Amino acid sequence: MEIPNSIFYPASVILGLCLGSFYNVCVHRYLTGQSIAWPGSHCPGCGHGLSWHENIPLLSYFFLRGKCSTCSRSISLRYPALEALSGVLSLLLAINLGFGIAYFTYLFFFGLLTIASFIDLEIFILPDIITLPGAALAFLASFILPISWQDSLFGAIIGAGLFLLIQRSYRAIKKIDGLGTGDIKIMLMLGALTGWQGLPILIFSSAAMGLVAAIFYMKAGTAQTMQTPIPFGPFLALGAIIYILWGEAIWLWYL
Ligand SMILES: [Zn+2]
Repeated sequence: MEIPNSIFYPASVILGLCLGSFYNVCVHRYLTGQSIAWPGSHCPGCGHGLSWHENIPLLSYFFLRGKCSTCSRSISLRYPALEALSGVLSLLLAINLGFGIAYFTYLFFFGLLTIASFIDLEIFILPDIITLPGAALAFLASFILPISWQDSLFGAIIGAGLFLLIQRSYRAIKKIDGLGTGDIKIMLMLGALTGWQGLPILIFSSAAMGLVAAIFYMKAGTAQTMQTPIPFGPFLALGAIIYILWGEAIWLWYL
């Protein structure tokens, strides 16, 4: 099916924003232990149910000037930030892949990664309920994506194996956990998604971004030492996203 880009690109942004709104609900309800299906969207402060015009992705945050219309409790910047990110990722996928099954498949996995990352940022946990089924689904997706199942399988095994090795050596030498077990589990999913060929760019870019963030945290005075935990999951997810979007271009530039 052919859809002109003049329609597909804006539609992809709107789809991404709406999905982002749903991801916000997933993150919030995971953090508070509520069901995803019930009750409807409401203010966590006063329980005020959101009307349709208070529930428009991104725009409502600005209409409401970042506050609940009933109790004036301020709305976390996390909500519009996640929605904007989801819209941008959807557009980038649309531009890179065009309309088709690959676009929707990666959009689904980017969604899982976005939800897991924002949970990790809040409570330093990458939920097993996302990473483990995500790993199985990423492997199955190799049968419909332009990647062989062998590459996907090796990606998962090598990626997670490498991180397990780093965790064990770190623990043996430094007596502390440098990497969480959640980081190893998400590598199963990310390795399966990018294939073993994606691991160098994934690991290098996420380590570089993690290091920059650690330095930034220390400069900002929020973290006193390198021992202060910084969630690594979002950087790993971002590394995989960078590879999926621009991996080929990065290799060509590098060679
Ligand atoms: Zn309220």
